[in-house]
Amino acid sequence: MLMTGSFAITNVNIVSEDAKDGLLHGYNVVVGPDGRISKVGAGNRTGIPDGYHRIDGTGRYLLPGLINAHVHLFSNGKPLSATLTGPTFQHAVSAALHSPLGALLIAHRTKVNARTLLLSGVTTFRTVGDVGYEAVRLRERIESGKELGARMLAAGPLLAITGGHGSPQIALIGDSPSQNRKNARTNIMHGVTAIKIAATGGVTDARRIGDAGRPQMSEEEMAAICEEAHHAGLLVAAHAQSPLGVTMALRAGVDTIEHGCAMNSEIIDLFGDNPRSLRGWSALIPTLSAALPLVKLSREVTGVDEIVVANARIAVDEMVQGIHDAKENGIALGMGTDTAMTYVTQYNTWRELALLNEYGDLTPQEAIHAASAENARILGFDQVTGRIAQGLSADLLLLKRNPLNDWRAYEHPEFVIARGRVLQNPQIERFELVDNELDAMKA
Ligand SMILES: [Zn+2]
Repeated sequence: MLMTGSFAITNVNIVSEDAKDGLLHGYNVVVGPDGRISKVGAGNRTGIPDGYHRIDGTGRYLLPGLINAHVHLFSNGKPLSATLTGPTFQHAVSAALHSPLGALLIAHRTKVNARTLLLSGVTTFRTVGDVGYEAVRLRERIESGKELGARMLAAGPLLAITGGHGSPQIALIGDSPSQNRKNARTNIMHGVTAIKIAATGGVTDARRIGDAGRPQMSEEEMAAICEEAHHAGLLVAAHAQSPLGVTMALRAGVDTIEHGCAMNSEIIDLFGDNPRSLRGWSALIPTLSAALPLVKLSREVTGVDEIVVANARIAVDEMVQGIHDAKENGIALGMGTDTAMTYVTQYNTWRELALLNEYGDLTPQEAIHAASAENARILGFDQVTGRIAQGLSADLLLLKRNPLNDWRAYEHPEFVIARGRVLQNPQIERFELVDNELDAMKA
């Protein structure tokens, strides 16, 4: 069923930070023909205009659609083959991806993966590293109404140094402030709505233990990128996995640190007060979903080598400490998963909330906040989405069970509503082997 606007969800439990037990009981949420929430109220059903369709929310749970601040759309999350990430075939793979046929294939996969994200309850997301401009084009089709989809920010290729994280497959390469400035301008010319930097090495393509967090891009190079992005009104995300890498990125004016690390006082201060960032502050987007399976699952299952496991272990320890430090110091803390990485499917965003609870000591309420209202604020959408409030976009998730005490409530949403468009019982193609391994993953 696809229905747009002019409906009301009646007598529903709203998952809310304002309520004692986390739930507002017996509420009606009215959605106007423009796809925005026109009324949120308790009690009787007066105030629902005649002719509005009614969705009975009795015994159901309503919360804002999830916001995922860190996704890639070029793959579906089944284990990435070592040939894709290993040094031998890296350039051949990159050439194939960037060929005309490869571009068609990637554009198709991007569309399918974006659709899966939406059907799983993610109504807003940001891509942070694409092969080319396929996600940028998809965003434009969605915004023009040609295609049903989530609200998107799309980064296009990330910006990296020669041999840097993500290069050459999903990166534009620059080795000086002026080259990196030019690459930022190139992306902006192609219509990106976000900018992503590889500030340090990454787990998937590091060659030696310790390389994952090693600084790659210089502070001057990152500052040049930030300047261009900020002039265009765009936020800059930086992949950064060590204290030195994070410090350099924050000093350069990066707006969101992806993955993160244990924080010292300089890092804590820079997050809260970052003069070169777009808005004067920066946020942390941890991605436990990407790093934990590499550490917790056996290598036969993940197919990665010992170096990847060792680097993932370091990344997990840094990330977990970073989450605790962010929480303790009132640093803006969002949520991302790094979809398309090994074992990070496009439909398991909810698992990150459970991991934030299990490893980051966030309460279920705090995890939902990070994935909705706070992510909206971090991505600049707080006047648009992220809460169930009058005037905001009807980006909603209706669940049969209470997500505050049952993470699996997210697995099969009864309704996903995006900008007032209603998707009932969305069906998703799942990968049983991947899900079984994730289910069995022990702390
Ligand atoms: Zn990523």
